[in-house]
Amino acid sequence: MSIELPALPYADDALAPHISAETISFHYGKHHAAYVNNLNGMLEDGDDRSLEQIIEGADGALFNNAAQVWNHTFYWNSMSPDGGGEPGGELGDAIAGAFGSFDSFRTEFTQAAMTQFGSGWAWLVDDGSGLSIMKTANADLPMVHSAKAVLTIDVWEHAYYIDYRNARPTYVATFLDSLVNWDHAALAFSA
Ligand code: MN
Repeated sequence: MSIELPALPYADDALAPHISAETISFHYGKHHAAYVNNLNGMLEDGDDRSLEQIIEGADGALFNNAAQVWNHTFYWNSMSPDGGGEPGGELGDAIAGAFGSFDSFRTEFTQAAMTQFGSGWAWLVDDGSGLSIMKTANADLPMVHSAKAVLTIDVWEHAYYIDYRNARPTYVATFLDSLVNWDHAALAFSA
């Protein structure tokens, strides 16, 4: 079995003007696709492990490519053409319980996304004792730290440089204002 590049959950221009079709063409069409191709090049014929099983047992280039396949699929699903706003339901309650308020969550998530030095990711995670914010470098991801991913933003420069140049703060604010997919986060939280 080989690992496949999942289809984007929306059209390549659906996140515009916040994330352009040009960014998607590189970020999904080149970067994400390359991680999939690199990963498949490293797997033995007949390897029938799931992507998660590969990640849990890997290090080095195999870990980096497998984890980046997972991270990007989760990132695309963490955004929606009609995203933004605040979550309700159990996730909204859990965020209020863990952070005190949605605004405090927003401040902590933004801080993590801003202060991840160099390439990496900021996450909302559930470690079994409640929700918290995590930031990871390069391909690192919550599942290898005994935490479940609920939401992520990619803060590698390739995620925002075409549309925002060096303005990571504007990209992060736009993600929270206009793109964040709380429906998917609620599904991940309850999974
Ligand atoms: Mn990326």
